[in-house]
Amino acid sequence: MSDVAIIGGGVIGLSCAFELARCGRSVTVIEREQTGFGASTVAAGMLTPSFEVELTPPSLVELQLDSLRRYPQFIADVETAGGLSCEYRDEGTLWVSRHRDDELELDHLCQIQEDRGLPARRLTGRQTRQLEPYLSPRIIGGLLVETDHQVNSRKLMIALRAACLAEDVEILEDTTVNTVERTRGRIALTLQSSDSASILHADQVLLAAGVWLEEGLVTPLPTIGMRPIKGQIMHLTGQPLVNRVLRNSDVYIVPRAGGKLLLGATEEEQGFDMQPTAGGTLDLLRYAFEILPGLYDLYVSEIDVGLRPAVSDHQPVIGPTDTQDIFIAAGHYRGGVLLAPATAHWITEAMIGGQTPAEIEPFGIDRFVQESRVEAAG
Ligand SMILES: Cc1cc2nc3c(=O)[nH]c(=O)nc-3n(C[C@H](O)[C@H](O)[C@H](O)COP(=O)(O)OP(=O)(O)OC[C@H]3O[C@@H](n4cnc5c(N)ncnc54)[C@H](O)[C@@H]3O)c2cc1C
Repeated sequence: MSDVAIIGGGVIGLSCAFELARCGRSVTVIEREQTGFGASTVAAGMLTPSFEVELTPPSLVELQLDSLRRYPQFIADVETAGGLSCEYRDEGTLWVSRHRDDELELDHLCQIQEDRGLPARRLTGRQTRQLEPYLSPRIIGGLLVETDHQVNSRKLMIALRAACLAEDVEILEDTTVNTVERTRGRIALTLQSSDSASILHADQVLLAAGVWLEEGLVTPLPTIGMRPIKGQIMHLTGQPLVNRVLRNSDVYIVPRAGGKLLLGATEEEQGFDMQPTAGGTLDLLRYAFEILPGLYDLYVSEIDVGLRPAVSDHQPVIGPTDTQDIFIAAGHYRGGVLLAPATAHWITEAMIGGQTPAEIEPFGIDRFVQESRVEAAG
């Protein structure tokens, strides 16, 4: 019997477990594979609310900024508790432009950033290349967003696991949750591991199963239409070529310690397919080569694939559900790493305080219940 059972050991499940445990709850995380098996370990780890700010509703931009502000303390807490580094870096993002179209896009992005109080600095081609000398001579301008940061998501997942264990979170790996049901005032979860089936009881449950939320897991939730958006990401190694995240509308290039570079990422509707493809790899290399020709001589160390959990409006689903004591934190799509500290903070407030904080009200599951009522009436 636990106070809280969390289904899914991704960045969302583990961040919430860490926060709830630090607030005195006894927490069990149940993970079908190993923690970090899902999208979280694949993620580039960019903490960039600036990205697509124009297409993002203000409430989500607010949540992203809130999470970004929480990041330094979150990292300090995780690293102190578990004793492992997350490789958090704060050099900012440099958007680069190759032609007039890109230039107009950067002007526009700069304006939107300023309107929303997000600082950004427009640069000439020469200033841009002074910051990053290996950039192609064809780069004609840039936009520096210094408030964007990044974390090594692989290290973060390992550090978060250690931090959870240090806070006495119980982690059951290689264990699948098949059903979640509320009976006689508490919640029962049926668990299946390779050698046994069992039932776990908890006072509260948090559903954080990523894109698999509606795959084989039976819950009292309404259908929310969770779907996978496949992302391929390439890992290169060799001479260090860049100091900060570089990006344009086609590709991003993320530097990691030891001369490693990540090129990302494709956005594909391919169901649950997790195979890398020649076309995906070709696109990433082609777009990145246009910006950074020196990567021609780097070694390909890995091509990784992850499934981003997305619902129809591409916004996360965070908060209580219609079933008492069952909560949800899922559908973080392209921003789960960025949104982890805020999600953990506000869901903990909701689970312990019994009220839904205003900050997460726009992300309630009731928007799907209302949608299905309208459909039924029509
Ligand atoms: C290529 C790529 C690049 C990305 N880059 C960024 C980025 O730069 N910045 C950013 O903020 N975000 C990024 N993202 C998005 C981010 O990775 C996701 O939003 C985030 O990882 C979602 O976390 P999660 O914990 O909800 O899901 P997941 O990490 O997928 O975790 C869900 C876990 O639940 C487990 N599970 C599922 N069903 C069950 C069950 N029935 N029983 C037990 N366990 C179960 C799974 O095994 C899995 O481990 C990227 C994603 C991809 C694919």
